[in-house]
Amino acid sequence: MKKIKSVLNSINFKIAVIFMLLLLATIEVVGASFTRQLEQNSIQNFESSIQVPNIITNQISSQLSRANSKKANQQLSQIISNYNLGDISQLMVVDNKGVIRAVSNVNDQNRIGQRTSNVDIKSVLSNGKQVSKVINDNGNYMVQISPLTSANGTNTPVGAIYVRASLQGVFNNLRQVSIYFLIAAVLGAIVALVISRAITRPIEEMRKQALRVANGDYSGHVRVYAQDELGQLAEAFNTLSVRIERTQEISDSERRRLDNVLTHMTDGVIATDRHGNITIINETALDFLGKTEKDVIGKPITNLLGLKDVTIQDLLSTQQELVVRVNDNTRDEMILHANFSLIQRVTGFVSGLVCVLHDITQQQKKEREQQQFVSNVSHELRTPLTSLRAYVEALNDGAWKDPNIAPQFLHVIQDETERMIRMINDLLSLSRMDRGVARMDLEWVNLNDFVNHVLNRFDMMLKSDSDKMHKKKYTIKREFPHQALWVEIDTDKMMQVIDNIMNNAIKYSPDGGVITVRLLQAQKHVILSISDQGLGIPRKDLNKIFDRFYRVDKARSRKQGGTGLGLAISKEIVEAHHGRIWADSAEGAGSTFYISLPYEAISEEGENWDEV
Ligand code: ADP
Repeated sequence: MKKIKSVLNSINFKIAVIFMLLLLATIEVVGASFTRQLEQNSIQNFESSIQVPNIITNQISSQLSRANSKKANQQLSQIISNYNLGDISQLMVVDNKGVIRAVSNVNDQNRIGQRTSNVDIKSVLSNGKQVSKVINDNGNYMVQISPLTSANGTNTPVGAIYVRASLQGVFNNLRQVSIYFLIAAVLGAIVALVISRAITRPIEEMRKQALRVANGDYSGHVRVYAQDELGQLAEAFNTLSVRIERTQEISDSERRRLDNVLTHMTDGVIATDRHGNITIINETALDFLGKTEKDVIGKPITNLLGLKDVTIQDLLSTQQELVVRVNDNTRDEMILHANFSLIQRVTGFVSGLVCVLHDITQQQKKEREQQQFVSNVSHELRTPLTSLRAYVEALNDGAWKDPNIAPQFLHVIQDETERMIRMINDLLSLSRMDRGVARMDLEWVNLNDFVNHVLNRFDMMLKSDSDKMHKKKYTIKREFPHQALWVEIDTDKMMQVIDNIMNNAIKYSPDGGVITVRLLQAQKHVILSISDQGLGIPRKDLNKIFDRFYRVDKARSRKQGGTGLGLAISKEIVEAHHGRIWADSAEGAGSTFYISLPYEAISEEGENWDEV
């Protein structure tokens, strides 16, 4: 059905129909008038061809002028039979009384002498005017009745000649001509089809090629049949399709390049239409926002970024810069800096917005940490200074004279001053490490010997009993492998780390605790663990104790002379050795600190070489 409709609508069909109709109309008009004319002429010619010549009519007239006798009738029959009838099928002579005097047809001889009943003959006899008419009786006939006048010149009517002749031949000729016209019409229709096909073929080819080009297939070409207007149109079409292909290639490669740039950008990029609905979004932006492309395309950017008080009109008119916080239950809060700019055409028409998202989470965190650090340092220094001032004021106010109080006050002043100096030294070494200017003096040491050496000092301190802090009793248990573990470390710094952890183990343990120090070798690491039987650390604080100034119990730490920086420095030192430090604890049941350092087992050969 659809196909029939498209054929009926095609130019090919329309041109063919128009041509055919024009041709048929022309042939019809020309043919009709021609055949009519031909018919008239043929009938006229036929009429004159069957006209009995005067010489014969005169002979007949002179016989009719005589009396109706058998002899005269024989004479008449003789004249008729001598006459070459040609197309005439029947000839009859009637006298002025309407009596048939002679007939050409042998079978009709019995009618001679009978009076004719033919009305036309009677009217010719009475008015003397010739009658010619076509009779449609068993095939077409022409009947011609001519009056006969006396041969002596008196014009006295003596009778009439009735002639009947078949028009079959004439009509056959006319039919023949009509058939020629019909053949011409059919040929004309075929020619019309061929011509219309010739005209529409290039158009049809161009239509098909246009469809292929629209579907992105530029491989084909329209054939140029001739250098006429259609040929030129086909050439122009081919040039056009080549240009479109090139433009398409350029725009494809531009798009790929843009896609590449967008994909590999560390910033998120979102483009919207002029209504603020998202049209393009890159991977980074999707990662930042924790969404998939399907979730966001076509949705308003204000919803995506959770902008409650800002409308798309605000963004379009002011292109403000915003800070967007992404709170996703599955991960930490992300802070993004969103910068908006307009997408404008050359005409100035605003067709959308581009939003560039920059991750400022770390930057903000650092800033917050720095602010926190400055406030912590001020606070940590103010506390000892305030107590120093109080003691100095008290001494000033006369306490220096009191031999019972003065030495005690001076001792506190000395302790606090020493703690402050320790804190400032710790801060300076942290600052050096932060700035990356702390030098590492690396050397290969046997870790077993090194840790033993550090622990021996603690045993010695226990015996010497000189330090107040170390008045506590403790036992150090060592669990070392026999195998020597060679590592490359900065011995001073690593000693500081072990000192810190050991001091903490003693500080935060009751008297008589056992401190177990283990060394073990894992695949590519050596792990040093120091376990105590002290207070333990609540689970929630386990990660925080490595932060600067973080203390589980501030008052206790201060009382013990702690600065809250020991573990922070230890962490920096261990990480500078590409190692890791962490703690594990069950509250109330002691803590274990682990230090893992990179280690590569030295082969047997290496050891032998060392011995040589
Ligand atoms: P401080 O100078 O306060 O000891 P550190 O950085 O060395 O500072 O330690 C931070 C905090 O970690 C301490 O204040 C303490 O609360 C906790 N801590 C460290 N080691 C232990 C331990 N062995 N047992 C219990 N708590 C500990």
